[in-house]
Amino acid sequence: MSSIENDPLLRLVNVSKYFGDLKAVDNVSLDIEAGSVTCIVGPSGSGKSTLLRTVNMMETIDEGAVFFRGQMIGHELRKGHRIPVKATVARQKILDFGMVFQHFNLFPHFTALENVAAGPMFARRAGRKKAHAAARRYLEQVGLGDRADHYPSELSGGQQQRVAIARALAMEPQILLFDEPTSALDPELVNEVLAVMRGLASSGSTMLVVTHEMRFAEEVADDIVMMDAGRIIERGSPSQIIHTPSSPRAKTFFASVG
Ligand code: ADP
Ligand code: MG
Repeated sequence: MSSIENDPLLRLVNVSKYFGDLKAVDNVSLDIEAGSVTCIVGPSGSGKSTLLRTVNMMETIDEGAVFFRGQMIGHELRKGHRIPVKATVARQKILDFGMVFQHFNLFPHFTALENVAAGPMFARRAGRKKAHAAARRYLEQVGLGDRADHYPSELSGGQQQRVAIARALAMEPQILLFDEPTSALDPELVNEVLAVMRGLASSGSTMLVVTHEMRFAEEVADDIVMMDAGRIIERGSPSQIIHTPSSPRAKTFFASVG
C-alpha cells in the first residue's frame, strides 16, 4: 500500500537498450511524478525515441527495469525469463496508445472520428455508439469538433496531429508520450499543436515529451532531461538546464537550438 503512495508514477532504473553493438540507451534512471511534464531534449541519434519506446514497451530492454506506481511493467529479458502475465496486462491497460508520433500515423481510410474511436472499439471492445460519442468530445477538446467526418487527407498537418492527440487521449492513458510531435509540421502549424499540449499540461496530464521546441519546454516543463549518446547528461528545471547547463556538451546544444 505504502509503495503506491510513495513511488513515482513511472520509474526507470538503469535501463539500457542495445542495437547490436550500439548502446542506444545507456543506463538511464528516471522518475516521472504524476501530473508532471518532462521534456527530453538532445541531438539526433542520442536515444530519445528509443527511450520513449522502452517506456511504452514498444522496445524490449536489455538491462534494468521499468516500474509503474511501484509495479514492474518491464525488465530485461534473460533466457527463460519472461515478463509476468500480470505485468503485461497492467502495462497494456496503462500505456497502450498513449503515444503521439512525429508522423501522425493516422489510418488514412478512417475519418477523424473513426481514428479516435478505433482504439477504444478494437483494443478495448467499447461499443460503437459510446466510442463515437467519446471521440467527438476528444475532438472538441483539441479544437476539431467540426472536422469529425473529414479524412486525414482532407486535414492540414496540424489538424492531423491534433487528431492523433485526440486518439491518444481516447485511450485514457496515465502517461502521454510525445515523440517530436511538431517536427514534421510547417512552422505556421506548430503553434496550434503546442497550444493543445499546453492545455493538456495545465489540466494536469502526465507528459513525457521529446521536443526541439525550447520555448515550449521552458514554459511548460517541470523537468528537462538532456540526452547525449544514450545517456542522461543533464536533468533539472528549465532555467537550470537551458540557461546554466553544467556540461560543455549541453552548452553547445542549447546554443545551437536557440
Ligand atoms: P533520437 O530519437 O534521439 O534521434 P534514436 O533513439 O532514434 O535517437 O536512436 C538512437 C540510436 O539508435 C541511433 O544511433 C539510431 O541509429 C539507433 N537505432 C534506433 N533504432 C534502431 C533500430 N531499430 N535498429 C538499429 N539501430 C537503431
Ligand atoms: Mg527520435
